[in-house]
Amino acid sequence: MKHDAGSNETRANIRHWHPMAAPRAAEQAAPLVFERAEGVYIYDTGGRRYLDSQGGLWCVNVGHGRKEVKQAINAQLERLPYYTTFGDTSNLPVIELAERLIRMLAPEDMQRAFFGSGGSDANETAMKLARQYWKLSGEAQRTKFISLKQGYHGVHFGGTSIGGQMYLRSMYEPVLPGCFQVDTPWLYRNPYTEDAEELGQVCANLLEREIVHQGPHTVAAFIAEPVQGAGGVIVPPDNYWPLVREVCDKYGVLLIADEVVTGFGRSGSMFGCRGWGVKPDMMCLAKGINSGYIPLGATVVNERVRKAWDSDHPLAAILHGYTYSGHPVACAAANAALQIVEDEDLPANAAKVGAYCVEKLQNELGDYDVVGDIRGKGLMIAIELVTDKAAKESFTPDDPYLHTLQELTRKEGLVIRNLGSSLIISPPLVFTEEHVDEMTGMLARAFDNAAAVRN
Ligand SMILES: *Cc1c(COP(=O)(O)O)cnc(C)c1O
Repeated sequence: MKHDAGSNETRANIRHWHPMAAPRAAEQAAPLVFERAEGVYIYDTGGRRYLDSQGGLWCVNVGHGRKEVKQAINAQLERLPYYTTFGDTSNLPVIELAERLIRMLAPEDMQRAFFGSGGSDANETAMKLARQYWKLSGEAQRTKFISLKQGYHGVHFGGTSIGGQMYLRSMYEPVLPGCFQVDTPWLYRNPYTEDAEELGQVCANLLEREIVHQGPHTVAAFIAEPVQGAGGVIVPPDNYWPLVREVCDKYGVLLIADEVVTGFGRSGSMFGCRGWGVKPDMMCLAKGINSGYIPLGATVVNERVRKAWDSDHPLAAILHGYTYSGHPVACAAANAALQIVEDEDLPANAAKVGAYCVEKLQNELGDYDVVGDIRGKGLMIAIELVTDKAAKESFTPDDPYLHTLQELTRKEGLVIRNLGSSLIISPPLVFTEEHVDEMTGMLARAFDNAAAVRN
């Protein structure tokens, strides 16, 4: 019924261009249409239940259908659904949220928050504020950005320009000039070393060499995700971020952490950088900020950055802003969602259940031929699939095996994200060890059944 070409789902899908999908494919197969969700489970229009191991898209940290969040949204809709925060008008939820974020970010010494509607906005804002910071500070030549290969910073032209995945860029070039990518410390795939600590040092050196090569007086900022998400959950060695902070300080370069995935507990600490005790100059936040109930993102800056706007320069204003900056309903949802994150100590649960999950997956799935690497930090985990374990040969994105595996996991009642050659696990942070066991069982059966297709 669902794959009947005349069904409502298929007809609707012809009109809808899905992000990150080929319209040709979408016209041939009906989408999986979800209707409702509760906790860590989602239900399709046929009433079938699935375990949501994606957390939507890394974002539903508090779980689906939380009544505290829904009530906050409803109450705000009753009072004030929308008003602008341009200039000198404000609303109560955005004031509360800015104070809340600065309190939550006290260990990182963050001082000010600016709001947009998602992670791409948060990165675009950070890039523009970094450029302006240097102009207000009398070093107008500092305009370049350095970032990491495999990095993901959203899809605006700024984020596309600093993004480290060429297939997401090539069709939209030319991008912003002055953006350069250096090697990411990826233990499973790098030409340098199998020693984590040595790799952290090598990659920090590569960043330093690039800054020196460009000329430090031309480099505005280094931007990276504390743990790379969309690149395939690449967890850096423990020494990498502290070394990056040192390198940036040595050359005066701003350090921007894109915490859109890692923010609010996912990597096992409230913020990704906090896991290594590193304080960036700016942080980009979205996804977990209100668990995806309403679009929202934020960029926060520390005292060093804030101070630049004390200048008596005639353009020492924030000449940037979105119609929905500080949207009251989105901010009300964030205040309620973040209260849950703190009250239930979801970062600690992510650390505990994430560690259990990686170990469980390694024990139960590690021996499969197609499983090349299982890695993660907190509840951001990847199973990297390979066609040849010894050679670490990747599947091509159009390999029918990947599609079959996806169908088979769904048949088991699991939604899991197939990203390139990796399966990504990023469930709500209320996930329990029992949920991990349930998921692992479904994955093992799907691998067993998919093996028939490869042989
Ligand atoms: C998802 C993501 C973004 C983009 O966020 P959108 O809300 O999709 O615009 C940016 N950076 C990182 C690290 C992300 O994971």
